[in-house]
Amino acid sequence: MFIGMCIVSGLLIETALHLLFLCPYATVVWRRVSQGHVCNLMEPGGTLQYVWCNSWNLVKAQGVMGKKKWKAIFLCVCWHVWKQRNCVVFGGNILELVALANRILGEVKLWRKYC
Ligand SMILES: [Zn+2]
Repeated sequence: MFIGMCIVSGLLIETALHLLFLCPYATVVWRRVSQGHVCNLMEPGGTLQYVWCNSWNLVKAQGVMGKKKWKAIFLCVCWHVWKQRNCVVFGGNILELVALANRILGEVKLWRKYC
């Protein structure tokens, strides 16, 4: 293991962009959560700002949800992908994808209800 290597996928280099959006594990999580909303929730790109702006523009163009709901989902996916990475770093096991997607969808409902 090299310093800076993604601990989840083993690919170089672990950046925020890789970890949250480009890592093969993260892309599958995004795909599974998107399937629950019948739209693409994330548009990968070369910078964090690009991903944020173009993901919202993609969702807006699909006309399936408002910005407040999308932001809750987007941030919740990022939070859980980060938590899974930390779980691996500290010796835990990564959650199975369906279980993680279900956890994210359930937590989004709570975030939207109480935030
Ligand atoms: Zn990775």
